[in-house]
Amino acid sequence: DARNTPFKRVLLKLSGEAFGGGAVGLDPSVVAGIARQIADAVEGGVQVAVVVGGGNFFRGAELQQRGMDRTRADYMGMLGTVMNCLALQDYLEKEGVETRVQSAIAMQQVAEPYIPRRAIRHMEKGRVVIFGAGAGMPFFSTDTVSAQRALETKCDALLIAKNGVDGVYSADPKADPTATKYDTLTFDEGLANGLRIVDAAAFSLCKENKLPMVVFGMEGPGNITRALLGEKIGTLVTN
Ligand code: UDP
Repeated sequence: DARNTPFKRVLLKLSGEAFGGGAVGLDPSVVAGIARQIADAVEGGVQVAVVVGGGNFFRGAELQQRGMDRTRADYMGMLGTVMNCLALQDYLEKEGVETRVQSAIAMQQVAEPYIPRRAIRHMEKGRVVIFGAGAGMPFFSTDTVSAQRALETKCDALLIAKNGVDGVYSADPKADPTATKYDTLTFDEGLANGLRIVDAAAFSLCKENKLPMVVFGMEGPGNITRALLGEKIGTLVTN
């Protein structure tokens, strides 16, 4: 089990939904709590990169259903992720953690551009790097971007923080009371059982490049810290 050795560097994917505490906009107490847990892990010695979604502001596909042009709506979605990055940056710095936001869309006053080697350097210095604006490309998701950024910045694992579920189950635990949670799972088993863990592009990036994925519930006390520090939590998906 890869989790018996602590990670050197990891990428944490947080959904925008979590940042909103279930509503549109930001729930400061949620962001502060997440920041505190990331700070604890950084203190524990792990290098951390973060990708934050933007579902608490806009999702391109939803705006499209309400009549907007998809690509413009997707750019709105990406801009939403940047607001989440700034919120996380603020609360991390309140915890005494140095941070850098790197945006896939140029916005010099707000964030550095995405420069992978510089991101690695930041992490080596103990800074948390927060990647914003997704891939900078419409029709992509922040799940896919999190796998890509984890690979390009040489992270040991992709950690997917979930709300309302604490790992990968054999069936939807909300719909099927007989569903059981996997402690470990292979990518092939996930495919064979039709389990939708992350979107298909993110899944195949991890599988093809042998990047371990940990899917865990972010609600329990200290869960994010535990996942970042490589403790056994949630479901480990590997080749
Ligand atoms: N988005 C995009 N390209 C990307 C990443 C995100 O177009 O590379 C847009 C897309 O519209 C998406 C929105 O940004 O709906 C918010 O991201 P996502 O839905 O992945 O956030 P989450 O569900 O994790 O909160």
